Amino acid sequence: MSVRRSPWNRADYPRYLLRRCELERVDRERRNVERRIRLAHFPQTKSFDTFDFAAQPSLNKALVLELMRCEWIEKRQNCIALGPSGTGKTHTALGLGLAACQKGYSVAFTTAAALVHELMEARDERRLRALQKHLNTVKLLIVDELGYVPFTAVGSELLFEVFSQRYERGAALVTSNLPFDEWSSIFGSERLTGALLDRLTHHVHILEMNGESYRLATSKKAQRRSAQGNAKRRRPRHRNINRHGSTKINRASQPFTLNPTGILSRRPLAHFFSAIDTPSTPGAPALARASA
Ligand code: ADP
Ligand code: MG
Repeated sequence: MSVRRSPWNRADYPRYLLRRCELERVDRERRNVERRIRLAHFPQTKSFDTFDFAAQPSLNKALVLELMRCEWIEKRQNCIALGPSGTGKTHTALGLGLAACQKGYSVAFTTAAALVHELMEARDERRLRALQKHLNTVKLLIVDELGYVPFTAVGSELLFEVFSQRYERGAALVTSNLPFDEWSSIFGSERLTGALLDRLTHHVHILEMNGESYRLATSKKAQRRSAQGNAKRRRPRHRNINRHGSTKINRASQPFTLNPTGILSRRPLAHFFSAIDTPSTPGAPALARASA
């Protein structure tokens, strides 16, 4: 809008310019945030606005809120979210990744399997250095789902190298369904796992998510609701009542009792730390437990 046509008169012109500059700055910042989100390659955009902390009491909400301020990224520390499937690890990682983008940090989101695949492909095509360089430039590297797929020896070494190069140079967020003492089953080597954990857990914030699967809880709730709805709607029928007067069991309305993770009863986190402090992992770390 030209000054002549603007509702501002000459006396107001400096104020008008200031306002224009401010609007321009806000718009540029919004576009920058959008660009960082696009470059992060989040599989979905999720924030803590839709996260129900009450549904995951084992998660330290105060710590999550502190992490959202992103000082840990500035300090090049790490964050590890541990827990069984469906407990909100990916949602939490996405929320923290989004917060980082909004605060001006570059982010790369990937799964452990995809990253190893990409590293191996880059190695075969002789562009591993370029990929490693790119990974080192992002302020926050999020590696989701470590633990579902075991790696080959080469894959393990390449992933180790990524974390090793980031050590104290860039922040990393890792999510895993496996406790630390089972990580060697993915990397296939106690020695490499010990060295990796040593680096990852030197300056670390641990998010323990050991509650029930949110997916399972919501599907149970939905089943209960539909069972209640059906019971209300259904008039008593003769065929549901046997000749002794007792009602037949309707299997579809039975509560869902399956525990698909088989991990909920695993040992507490303290055990994982003691496991990697054992002599089987030489040079095991003095872990930053205070933040856990
Ligand atoms: P995980 O990565 O631990 O397997 P996800 O983060 O993928 O679990 O969560 C599974 C689904 O449940 C996602 O749609 C996620 O948004 C939702 N979810 C999990 N925990 C919560 C929660 N506490 N509040 C709201 N939604 C949740
Ligand atoms: Mg997940």
